[in-house]
Amino acid sequence: MASRAEILRELNLGPEWRLRHGVGKATADAGTRTERAPSAAAQTSTGRLERIAALSWDAFAADVDACTACGLCRTRKRAVPGVGDVRAQWMLIGEAPGAEEDARGEPFVGQAGKLLDNMLGALGMNRRENVYIANVLKCRPPGNRTPEPVEIEACRPYLERQIALIRPRLIVALGKSAASLLLGTDASIASMRGRVHRYRDVPLVVTYHPAYLLRSLQEKAKSWDDLLLARRVLAASLSGAEPLQRG
Ligand code: SF4
Repeated sequence: MASRAEILRELNLGPEWRLRHGVGKATADAGTRTERAPSAAAQTSTGRLERIAALSWDAFAADVDACTACGLCRTRKRAVPGVGDVRAQWMLIGEAPGAEEDARGEPFVGQAGKLLDNMLGALGMNRRENVYIANVLKCRPPGNRTPEPVEIEACRPYLERQIALIRPRLIVALGKSAASLLLGTDASIASMRGRVHRYRDVPLVVTYHPAYLLRSLQEKAKSWDDLLLARRVLAASLSGAEPLQRG
């Protein structure tokens, strides 16, 4: 039987991975957009919320592309709505696009994305089948800085609409931004992982963001355990049984 270290090596989860965040800061992005940021009132206007809550998939990406509800519209190259199977049982939710995602308009396409793809592949899955991947923010924060609360609130209706359209059977929150938003808590990832939470009526498992995993072999092993827990949670949910709590 393969040891855990061997399994992690097979997954390309070894220490040769390098952190994507912080590389190639956003200086090239600055000033690429000149639109004025809208007022706080515009970010939460009832009309906007109602429009987003009624969006179809056909209209969703174009609406995100045209969004100017927070200041990130001024520095993004491309909005990054999400990718995957719109009828997926699994929904993975990260924080925000990085530089490569901003350039390509797709989430998780840099080194962190390769790690995520490897982990999905080890579960017999890929990003286009039975999985949908989105971020809390659809536009890149300059320099990959931490999202501001006002940006998260402005973008929240899009994520909520995606969840409503997909109706996933399981959500995996990748990192603290997603976990905090969906669970309404400021608790640490370490304290939230290893248990089954709920977003409304959907089981939710918390794990580390892949960009963070690129720095820590120890957390990579834990994150693999979290995905195994997620798989068991989904299987139990589909069968109507209660899932085990730990990987
Ligand atoms: Fe709109 Fe979200 Fe982009 Fe802000 S991050 S401009 S709210 S799509």
